[in-house]
Amino acid sequence: MEESVFKNLRFRTITFLIYLIFDLSNSFSAYTPFPKSKSTLGPSLRIRVEKNLPKFSVSGIDLKRTLHLSKNKALFGGQKKIVFNCKKALKSSQGLDRKTLLASIESPTGFISLMRDRYQGRLLVFSSFRKKGCDVVHDTFMESYISSLLAKEMNESWPSEALKAQAVAARTYAYALWVQKIKRKKRYSFHLDSSEFHQVSGDFFDITNKTFNLTRSTRGMVLMTKGGKIVPAFYHAKCGGRTLTPKTVWGDYTKGYKSKKCSFCHSHGKKSWSSKVSKERIISFIKGNQKRKKKVKGTLRLVPNNYEDLSMRYYIGDDLFVVDKVSLRKAFGRKILPSHYFQGKVTKKNFLFKGRGRGHGVGMCQLGALHLAQKGWNYKKILRYYYPNLVIRTIY
Ligand SMILES: [Zn+2]
Repeated sequence: MEESVFKNLRFRTITFLIYLIFDLSNSFSAYTPFPKSKSTLGPSLRIRVEKNLPKFSVSGIDLKRTLHLSKNKALFGGQKKIVFNCKKALKSSQGLDRKTLLASIESPTGFISLMRDRYQGRLLVFSSFRKKGCDVVHDTFMESYISSLLAKEMNESWPSEALKAQAVAARTYAYALWVQKIKRKKRYSFHLDSSEFHQVSGDFFDITNKTFNLTRSTRGMVLMTKGGKIVPAFYHAKCGGRTLTPKTVWGDYTKGYKSKKCSFCHSHGKKSWSSKVSKERIISFIKGNQKRKKKVKGTLRLVPNNYEDLSMRYYIGDDLFVVDKVSLRKAFGRKILPSHYFQGKVTKKNFLFKGRGRGHGVGMCQLGALHLAQKGWNYKKILRYYYPNLVIRTIY
């Protein structure tokens, strides 16, 4: 059965307060395989799983659907499919803000299928930014989220201690963002995006016995500063040789970070990478990057440099320019510069980059953690190594 749920919708503005009352009063069915007590699942967490969808459908058994603007509730008994034509509905709507809760779908008896993924619990449908379509948000709990994330952010086959270190780091990251949003008291439709922008989480079928049990064995554990502050625990695929701090990469003074030497990731993943850009592109970047613009001309040269250096020193003619690697990676993108750990070389026509690693380099190096777990380090020791100024605390 198909039903276009936004047909004949009379849009009205709803206040966040009404939305919040609705939200808090809504009862959840337990998320198997988790125990029934909510306190063991951690805070309720909203993960945006799809964005700007012009049209989509969900299917499942005994779906309960609420259209919040028209306050229309319906139960679709048996296996049914519901179609949401967002673009059409949003086009005809007047005065509808982004982040407006349009609909919610629950399946108390089973899963809700959305594209290739299956979710348990509740999906929320919001109007997306600039009314381009709908955002779909999975309303879940912290511990379910961490269980589904382990297989996506690492590999389920990795040693347990590496996965446990990942569980604590990912929980800390999610918890820090959750706290930030709660503190701001602003209207929001989700806490975290399921993408590389935040963390990649999976669906119900990414939860295995192993990821479930490892998540449970670290339940409620987060990293904190010694003063008791939860800060986002950043991590990345492979540092290449040395980790970086949030200050170096984002100019952000998040506490608890220290640059750490890491040769542990050398024997894992891709050994090295190389890429090239034209000399003209480098020259034009250097010129555009100058604080005080002045005319420069001449031959491009590079002062010999190391992978570890945070900046590169170029000459154009007789003028020296110091360019930090973070700005270079920002300008040329992750495809050309997969990490901040690289060297350069000028050739006849081009500028060559040769590097190691993948990712921003801040915090835990995942392939380094893999290596350390294989060597017998436990998750606490791994976390202490990559976050030397943070301590592990159990908060629920
Ligand atoms: Zn590393």
